[in-house]
Amino acid sequence: MIVAQISTEIYTSNIYKITIDNDVWFVDIGNGEPALKSVASFERVKGVFITHSHYDHIHGINDLYHANNNCKIFASEYAIEGLYSEKLNLSFYHENPIVFNGKQVEKIKDNDLISIGKNFDLRCIYTPGHNAGSMSFQVGNYLFTGDSFIPEIPVVTKLKSGDKQQNLLSLQRIKSLIKSDTIVCPGHGSMCLGEEIIW
Ligand SMILES: [Zn+2]
Repeated sequence: MIVAQISTEIYTSNIYKITIDNDVWFVDIGNGEPALKSVASFERVKGVFITHSHYDHIHGINDLYHANNNCKIFASEYAIEGLYSEKLNLSFYHENPIVFNGKQVEKIKDNDLISIGKNFDLRCIYTPGHNAGSMSFQVGNYLFTGDSFIPEIPVVTKLKSGDKQQNLLSLQRIKSLIKSDTIVCPGHGSMCLGEEIIW
């Protein structure tokens, strides 16, 4: 399994590309172009896991989806609502509104295990607080935290459906999952090792 961070040019949000054999999975899709460019001709895009549907994490979804018409989009129930609502995904308030125009969406919930390759299961961890639809994902020693945990940056809970109390519980849970060799992959900023995090 190879995990690569792709920075988006338009937003500061991260896209992660997980490659297992020739299968490709993305975590978030803030910009379709660099994600598509990163896929080699012999690779197949299998799906996209959405940490939450704020516009800066989903803006490239239509480009990627239509270029790979079998790729599945995985998101929590509230995040799915956000994919189809420019007000919930906040793009309504920005220059380029975005609404997902595809149908292949699979609803995920806490503790769901999704097989993304031989010997590789991705675990869904519901981590609301930043957003009611926030999910983190764990595969091997990688933990994708979206905007639910960005090392050294306080979690934003002021946006629509944000919740301070839930955020505290989610942070406790995320903390319990981070071991010294965990590779934390946040929604913004750099990937880092668990042992480097200053709590
Ligand atoms: Zn966000």
